[in-house]
Amino acid sequence: MPEWKREGIVHSCPEVDISFLNRRPEYAAWQLDQVQALGIPLHFSTTAEKVTETDDKVVVHTDKGDFEADVCVAADGIGSKVPWPVPGGLAAVVDSGYAVARVAFPKETIKKGSPAEAIIKSIDEDGPQFRTYVGGADVSLIIFLTTDYVAWAFSHEADALSAESWHNNRDPEDIIEIIEKSSSDWDPAILDFVRQTPGKVVDWRLKWRDSIEQWTSDKGRIIKVGDSAHAFFPTAGNGAVQAQEDGISLAECLHQAGTKENIPWATRVHNALRFQRVSILQQTGFVNRDELHNSSFDENASAPDGEVPPEVGFFKIGRWVWDHNPEDYARRSYQKCLEHVRDGKNFHNTNIPPGHVFKSWTLESEYKRMAEGGHSGLKENGYWGL
Ligand SMILES: Cc1cc2nc3c(=O)[nH]c(=O)nc-3n(C[C@H](O)[C@H](O)[C@H](O)COP(=O)(O)OP(=O)(O)OC[C@H]3O[C@@H](n4cnc5c(N)ncnc54)[C@H](O)[C@@H]3O)c2cc1C
Repeated sequence: MPEWKREGIVHSCPEVDISFLNRRPEYAAWQLDQVQALGIPLHFSTTAEKVTETDDKVVVHTDKGDFEADVCVAADGIGSKVPWPVPGGLAAVVDSGYAVARVAFPKETIKKGSPAEAIIKSIDEDGPQFRTYVGGADVSLIIFLTTDYVAWAFSHEADALSAESWHNNRDPEDIIEIIEKSSSDWDPAILDFVRQTPGKVVDWRLKWRDSIEQWTSDKGRIIKVGDSAHAFFPTAGNGAVQAQEDGISLAECLHQAGTKENIPWATRVHNALRFQRVSILQQTGFVNRDELHNSSFDENASAPDGEVPPEVGFFKIGRWVWDHNPEDYARRSYQKCLEHVRDGKNFHNTNIPPGHVFKSWTLESEYKRMAEGGHSGLKENGYWGL
């Protein structure tokens, strides 16, 4: 049960039933609807090749011509080849040696009378579920069960065919073979469930990336948002959420700035409001992955026998993450943060865990800690409760 749906928990948007799982195609369609409803022109199949900036404008040079604007919001994800003129350049990348194979399909795919049918029936009895299977040969299997779609995600050692791309489609048989070989203890219903996977499976090669503090260009008219500014390891389960929060925060900062001349301050304030929050959440990608793969559950664990304790990995998110309103935060904090970035006055972000003392990290420091088997302590720094 997600933290915000637990009994007695009230979040800041009680009139909205917040699901714990949204499918990408549906989500993209909602966003497209909204952009079209606002009358914003879209140019599909157009590649940005270069962006140039002067004191009062930016020009985005594409393969279909140039676009002039007051500000360029670079939301080009991790794969961009565009040399954005942002100091610091691209974040350092290290191959983790692992991959996650993912697929979603309609629940009707599971044949009636098959061993996996019991899993589908459990949705009617217990509602949507997010199941995690850990242990064994450094693997984990997550199963998502909703009233229309079901999905699974299997973390495993990468092989030559694993690649960091949504287009890296593999035959499910390849992955199912790895699942079967990883343990002799699999529940037969689970194995039957994955064996009934239709179509192809995306096998995403997992790469660690450094956290970079500056997302704005020198003149402040180019701002990176989403994965382009801060790539997430999928075990953080928060990259898309933070990309969206960026959009909301930036829009409010631009609104607060009021004039075209003030746009560079708006992008810098947005960056200062967001960096620490995002950096902490990026770090959870390392911590969650480590916990999921290296947990051992003994009689002291707080969950019933065989279940993953709720304080482990994904399950401990914290109110500070899901109860945040980035629009309201930007509105309330804009002036104080502006005085900080422009005049050097003191400012402390409050969109991080209450009581948290921010510690910067690098890919190297996290990698070293994990290699030495060290405990992170991230989720004990400040209040991560409900
Ligand atoms: C396996 C996996 C599981 C994940 N699970 C979760 C999860 O549970 N929860 C969560 O919140 N996040 C999750 N994420 C992270 C999430 O997918 C990303 O953080 C999110 O998609 C980032 O959005 P974005 O818009 O910044 O970048 P993207 O979604 O990568 O979009 C960038 C877009 O820019 C386009 N583009 C790139 N270069 C150019 C160019 N030069 N010109 C024009 N267009 C260009 C690309 O084609 C693409 O459409 C997961 C990621 C992975 C890989």
